[in-house]
Amino acid sequence: AITPAALAAIASSAKHGILFKGGVHIENMGRLKAIAFDKTGTLTIGKPEVQHVLLHPDVTRDDVFRVVSLIEEHSMHPLAEALVAYTGKHTGTMEQFKDVTGSGIEAMIDGVTYRVGKQKFADVSGDFFPDQVEQLKSAGHTLVFISDASRTLGAFALRDTLRPEAKQAIERLNRLGIATIMITGDNEATGRAIATEAGLTRYIAECLPDEKVEQIKLLKAEYGSIGMIGDGINDAPALATADVGIAMGEGTDAALETADVVLMKNDLVRLSSAIEQSRKLNRIVL
Ligand code: ADP
Ligand code: MG
Repeated sequence: AITPAALAAIASSAKHGILFKGGVHIENMGRLKAIAFDKTGTLTIGKPEVQHVLLHPDVTRDDVFRVVSLIEEHSMHPLAEALVAYTGKHTGTMEQFKDVTGSGIEAMIDGVTYRVGKQKFADVSGDFFPDQVEQLKSAGHTLVFISDASRTLGAFALRDTLRPEAKQAIERLNRLGIATIMITGDNEATGRAIATEAGLTRYIAECLPDEKVEQIKLLKAEYGSIGMIGDGINDAPALATADVGIAMGEGTDAALETADVVLMKNDLVRLSSAIEQSRKLNRIVL
């Protein structure tokens, strides 16, 4: 049963852009010790843009752009949209499309098999412009490589922007004694750069989509109580595993349906207000 006080709290939170799907979630929110954040679309606005391109000296820009465009046209990943916008329209046919979740795409064009995706997946040479690549990662860029079976042909450096209120939101949570942890599929150096920029307590990088649930379980054991905030379809299982699952208001249906709490205005600062209010209620009610 829901107490009148909890009902009043749900109504008043809703007015401030936080939708609790039940009184128990207010209680749980007030007890959180840590919050895990998805990176793309949650800490960042989720609109990455290509900023730099590195090309193998023996290939033309047009050939590489064509392959990337024809392949990424068929992917729903936020990076794919940015890559297609940047590489432009090209003619040709792609076959044997294989989406390797958390890694990239493998597909065939004109009888050649290409890979487009993260370094471990698509950098066959392993020493592709190593200095530039490291430098770009340390500046927070996400790298997407393209290769055929024998060579790495190019790399695209994309940058997404932090939500304008992200730093302030994290600072307030940290001040409330809440540990803030980013979980990302991106590489270690890029993860570190974004985590530093946002002021996060820590980060977990190179996390495959189906490892997020396991990470939430580990964090729960470590901190006692964990919240998880995300926006994507593949965040839904992690949201369900956390003590409090929180969805961004503009998130996918799967995230919105699974979550216990919805941040209706996508405003991360409201997280700390929600926690303060929940703590207050936990003291009054019971
Ligand atoms: P996150 O959700 O943390 O942003 P993902 O798990 O979706 O990251 O992807 C991890 C990495 O795999 C990306 O940073 C990118 O390098 C690579 N990747 C995944 N899908 C694609 C794709 N369609 N095109 C290019 N790269 C991809
Ligand atoms: Mg996301």
